[in-house]
Amino acid sequence: MTPDPIGILALQGNVQAHARMLAQLGRSARPVYRPADLDGLAGLILPGGESTTLSQLLRRDGLDRAIADFADHHPVLGTCAGLILMCTRTNDARVNPLGLLTAEVDRNHYGRQRESFIASLEGSHFPGMRAAFIRAPAVRARAPLEVLATHAGLPVALRQGRHVGCAFHPELGRDARVHEYWLGLA
Ligand code: GLN
Repeated sequence: MTPDPIGILALQGNVQAHARMLAQLGRSARPVYRPADLDGLAGLILPGGESTTLSQLLRRDGLDRAIADFADHHPVLGTCAGLILMCTRTNDARVNPLGLLTAEVDRNHYGRQRESFIASLEGSHFPGMRAAFIRAPAVRARAPLEVLATHAGLPVALRQGRHVGCAFHPELGRDARVHEYWLGLA
């Protein structure tokens, strides 16, 4: 039996790169634009982008509630802005976080676009993975969050239940370990 497709929020961000990662792991992807698109999906990816804009768009379309309900029974993977949307609190009042990860997040912790960098991850799960940080947030994790990976002492990949959040962009490059790990939680 072919497994149900994985949804990728397609309002902004690197939708194609996530779809390519999923294809590499033998899974199909479907874009999500509105609440009805969540029907029949095995999980949902919230890609990077601009969390303030994404939050507004989610709210306007009722996708914020629909995703929160979906997340009660399905795994969600959030990357960069996607992670910001998943947390419980941010330093920017324009973001209404979904509360899927018990974490507080500071947007743009590492500076502007030109301060983007690639670094090797440390920690238990994806050691040595080359990770792209693009206007990435800083995360303060709280139990029951599990820290999967760190960079320079800060948690940058987190798991809570079946949900995973990354401060970096695991869809860039060829290393599919984060997507593979997350799919394994479903
Ligand atoms: N800095 C962006 C934000 O706060 C996130 C950047 C990204 O997703 N690469 O929403």
